[in-house]
Amino acid sequence: MPSVTHIVGAGLAGLSAAMRLAERGRKVAVHEAAGQAGGRCRSYYDSGFGAVIDNGNHLLLSGNDAAMRYLKLAGGADKLQDPGRAEFAFADLGTGEHWKLSIDEGLWPSWLFDPARRVPGTKPADYLGALPLMWAGSRKTVTDVIRGEGALYKRLWEPLFLAALNTDPREGSAKLAGAVMRKTLAKGGAACHPLVAEGLSAAFIEPALAYIEARGGSVALGRRLRGIAFEEGRAAALDFGDGRIAVEEGATVILAVPPWVAQTLVPGLDAPDEFRSIVNAHYRIELPPSFPPILGVVGGTVEWIFAFPGRLSITISGADRLTGLPREELAARLWAEISAVTGLPESLPHWQIVNEKRATMVATPAQDARRPGPQTGWRNFFLAGDWTQTGLPATIEGAILSGERAAVLAARAGA
Ligand SMILES: Cc1cc2nc3c(=O)[nH]c(=O)nc-3n(C[C@H](O)[C@H](O)[C@H](O)COP(=O)(O)OP(=O)(O)OC[C@H]3O[C@@H](n4cnc5c(N)ncnc54)[C@H](O)[C@@H]3O)c2cc1C
Repeated sequence: MPSVTHIVGAGLAGLSAAMRLAERGRKVAVHEAAGQAGGRCRSYYDSGFGAVIDNGNHLLLSGNDAAMRYLKLAGGADKLQDPGRAEFAFADLGTGEHWKLSIDEGLWPSWLFDPARRVPGTKPADYLGALPLMWAGSRKTVTDVIRGEGALYKRLWEPLFLAALNTDPREGSAKLAGAVMRKTLAKGGAACHPLVAEGLSAAFIEPALAYIEARGGSVALGRRLRGIAFEEGRAAALDFGDGRIAVEEGATVILAVPPWVAQTLVPGLDAPDEFRSIVNAHYRIELPPSFPPILGVVGGTVEWIFAFPGRLSITISGADRLTGLPREELAARLWAEISAVTGLPESLPHWQIVNEKRATMVATPAQDARRPGPQTGWRNFFLAGDWTQTGLPATIEGAILSGERAAVLAARAGA
């Protein structure tokens, strides 16, 4: 009988670890504090809006290979919309211009030489200026490495890296931006298809739970870890408030909770401690079939517009500047921008605003330096989560990768 791995936290990191261990025939017991799995990547019924929505629009690119492995294993890949090409529609609120970035599937970037497929106001040579990001040192910010002004910055690099890092590129880590480029743009358009889930839970969470349970694993909800007893160089017991569970010899523990929780449970843990919010606004509206699935907006407050059946949802990253604004005012201001840029009617539809205050760690060089690896000083105890040192920003890809990595270590350490 294999020894159990206790996985604390059923976000993407915990579920990815649990699936990989279950795949290897290991016994897993997942413990989740909330009444629902998925953490920061989940769907829920919003009674104010009167519909099931995601806690935030999530964009994945086809080059996110850990996420693709996860979806393939769990069986949720068919729940992602893939337009089949790397095409991104953009609009400039200030000038009223619209354009499409249309990247070749292969490595040869012929799109750079076609003004109709690159960013208006840019030249092919401008794009070369971003290459040094891919080997940038860990102390540099994005704009230490690339020019933080001009059409290419304002219309491509700023929106792209703000979204990927959830941090203004002026303070965001060049190393992390470079890691995103290596996985996506540097591999050509085949690695840059924008993928959006029809629903986050349907794509990422429900298939993973079914996979784990089908292989004899358990997922207990409403089970908050309150303390860990460390004895003789190992995690020896887990305290869930209703009695301690002994961690038997040969059993292992993966802690996959957010950093602010991990720091209360693990003595002396250094971890990121600054966060940025993401605001999503949802509007109930039927969209014309010609409406693009995703529209990037520059020159306003709205950053990305996502089209869903009967609903339009927008995302604003690094949105702390909006905290404190009255919700009604924000909903109206954002809709005025949406209407101006899309031609949709000016009258404000039924809306909902969701502000995830600690959406991700801030991806500055200083915070990146605080990220611990998966291994700890306790031989059967490992860390996972988008905030651990994955070499990537705090994203779906990073969270899943961290879970895979912790699973390998736990399998090795277990009996
Ligand atoms: C609004 C928003 C938009 C985003 N957009 C994107 C995007 O477009 N693309 C992208 O790649 N990424 C995006 N992200 C980031 C992505 O969602 C996260 O990186 C990822 O979901 C983190 O997964 P995780 O497992 O590391 O952490 P979490 O999802 O936070 O999981 C941790 C789990 O631990 C549980 N827990 C906490 N304390 C305890 C305890 N004491 N005991 C037991 N369980 C506990 C929590 O309830 C939670 O379920 C976005 C995030 C947000 C919030």
